[in-house]
Amino acid sequence: MNQADMSDRNPFEYAPAPESRAIVDIKSSYGLFINGEWVEAGQSFKTVSPSTEEVLAEVSDAGEAEVGAAVKAARRAYVRTWSKLAGRDRAKYLYRIARIVAERSREFAVLESLDNGKPIRESRDVDLPLVSAWFFYYAGWADKLEYARADPRALGVAAQIIPWNFPLLMLAWKIAPALAAGNTVVLKPAETTPLTALLFAEVCQQADLPPGVVNIITGAGQTGRALVEHPDVDKIAFTGSTDVGRSIAKAVAGTDKRVTLELGGKAANIVFDDAPVDQAVEGIVNGIFFNQGHVCCAGSRLLVQENVAEEVLARLKRRMGTLRVGDPLDKNTDIGAINSAEQLDRITQLAAVGDAEGAQRWSPPCELPDRGFWFAPTLFTGVTQAHRIAREEIFGPVLSVLTFRTPTEAVEKANNTPYGLSAGVWTDKGSRILWVADQLRAGVVWANTFNKFDPGSPFGGYKESGYGREGGKHGLEAYLR
Ligand code: NAP
Ligand code: MG
Repeated sequence: MNQADMSDRNPFEYAPAPESRAIVDIKSSYGLFINGEWVEAGQSFKTVSPSTEEVLAEVSDAGEAEVGAAVKAARRAYVRTWSKLAGRDRAKYLYRIARIVAERSREFAVLESLDNGKPIRESRDVDLPLVSAWFFYYAGWADKLEYARADPRALGVAAQIIPWNFPLLMLAWKIAPALAAGNTVVLKPAETTPLTALLFAEVCQQADLPPGVVNIITGAGQTGRALVEHPDVDKIAFTGSTDVGRSIAKAVAGTDKRVTLELGGKAANIVFDDAPVDQAVEGIVNGIFFNQGHVCCAGSRLLVQENVAEEVLARLKRRMGTLRVGDPLDKNTDIGAINSAEQLDRITQLAAVGDAEGAQRWSPPCELPDRGFWFAPTLFTGVTQAHRIAREEIFGPVLSVLTFRTPTEAVEKANNTPYGLSAGVWTDKGSRILWVADQLRAGVVWANTFNKFDPGSPFGGYKESGYGREGGKHGLEAYLR
């Protein structure tokens, strides 16, 4: 074995440490949660565990009639109960939800990892703590709305459509501010990850939330479209692809529905030659391999200063060699399963474009399980700005590496994208951080860290990354008149 093979190898042997799935009781089939009750739809679909392809449950597929029933229930609840409650009383429900989610967090984390494929280490230590933090944070706002804006009034019924990459966390980002501001909601989770939203419906019952304040309807794109087009919806909050976001913007043009769109990204993670290299490498790994790279703000373009590129790449490769890919329920796992066969196809195809365009692909040696959907952590060097892998969102564990010589060139390259969601900058100099952050057209800029979230901090994009902000006081504005 030569030197290169040695350094590529994962030096750490380890015994599996699987989290038990016994804590969660998955039903064989689920109805829709409308007006505080479970309602069967005529049709259904299956949700699978992407790490094994095992069918987890049969889930109702809401058609136009069910979408209509959910919107009607939300309207009735808005008029009769929710809009009549004082802010401090809405807050009590939100605090209750926050506490119950925290108490049941292990159950939620296991279910999320099963349905989505993400490592339990992340669902347990990132998603779930943030979910309850989001509810606690907005519970605190419910009786203080006049500090967010003068004469605050709710919009009414909010239609909320979320993707599969952070199923429960995106639910929390949507539902917590909407309820705090006095709206009622109809939420549609993604087709491939409906289960934690359905478990959340149980939490609403447990918290004694008045019927109809939260309605959860499962289904595919058609269900989402019916919800967007429903005439009695006041507000649409969407997170997902730029294409669907664009179609939603068109569908509501000329109506008085409010819209916020949180779309894709192609973030630059910029490493200057004075950056602490080991911390930067951790930040690069966290930026692109966290959640299998299924992250809209993922640091999918590494911009590294030319004079340190060799050293940074060598250390990055060594670090990538230690990443453990496999069973999402194993507490050792760093990279879990790709969420669906369709997403795996997209990643595979775009990576093949990278090969065809002449970039050099590298992955550490790693054994992928036989069943399920997997993609090894991957690095492309020799990437130019014209390459599709440098321009399009891959939404998988694939990093494109470009180099730069001067801060000005770094900023130009970082901004050379149709997206503008996030960016990272790694340098020892505070003045440079401020200068770079000021020049970047990105909604969030992380300095010497990456992928950090807090309910008090607004998140959202420029350009094709969408409009509107979630989180913080700004996140309330989207739900107030
Ligand atoms: P998507 O198709 O935009 O899906 C997002 C949500 O919208 C899902 O609940 C989806 O339902 C629903 N939907 C689909 N078509 C709709 C329509 N015409 N009207 C209303 N709702 C509709 O995104 P995706 O398929 O999950 O992923 C595709 C790409 O989107 C990814 O490769 C990535 O580039 C991007 N993405 C971005 C984010 C982000 O956080 N910004 C998150 C996920 C994906 P179904 O899931 O049931 O189809
Ligand atoms: Mg699933």
